[in-house]
Amino acid sequence: MADVLVFGAHPDDAEFGMGASLVKFARSGAAVALCVLTRGEAGTFGTPEQREREMRAAAAKLGAAIEVLDFEDCRVADTVESRMKAAAVIRKHRPRLLFAPYHTNPASHHDGLAHPDHTATGAIVRAAARFAKFAGLAGLAGEPWDAAHLLYYMVPRTMRPTFYHDVTAHMDEWESIARCHESQMQLRGGTIMERLRAHRQGYGAAMGAAYAEGFWIEDPLPFDLDWFLGR
Ligand SMILES: [Zn+2]
Repeated sequence: MADVLVFGAHPDDAEFGMGASLVKFARSGAAVALCVLTRGEAGTFGTPEQREREMRAAAAKLGAAIEVLDFEDCRVADTVESRMKAAAVIRKHRPRLLFAPYHTNPASHHDGLAHPDHTATGAIVRAAARFAKFAGLAGLAGEPWDAAHLLYYMVPRTMRPTFYHDVTAHMDEWESIARCHESQMQLRGGTIMERLRAHRQGYGAAMGAAYAEGFWIEDPLPFDLDWFLGR
């Protein structure tokens, strides 16, 4: 069983997209599991074998379980079969908290967040969270499970996140884990880590912290007077 289950289309999505939060979750004692749909074989850098080694090394450093599915890079699509595969993983890990890349992104092909595999993964997980609940769904292995919350990372740059998560204290450890994806350090002319750090600085500035990661939730949030009053 995992407290937190994070889906990503590619080997580096979870660590690059929300890795400092994952460090914070894991170090607070939460059981974290990752589910990666592809081996990133269509990417410009790294072989599928190297990329699989890198994601397993990153998961080990984080202290997370990892599942690698058999989707093909650039062919991830929200189909019934895809939903069933993701729902089976949800049933296996029975998480309270699910994460996926946001399912819609209007940005162009220059914006890495808007890779169609990312948005498709969000749509797949959104449907799979529902499928996982249905006791009568033929062909779906495992016991029914209703994850309490689905949060999205890779929030499009046109949207303000619902949550800003202060990860300032976890940035160094995050960077050492993200660097396990050695083949991907050449992205963006070798500036990928600077860019990922700057993105977190932007979210940090929005909440008065040095570094933050942003998340989106579709559910209405409960009104919590104690939280508003700081007690
Ligand atoms: Zn990706």
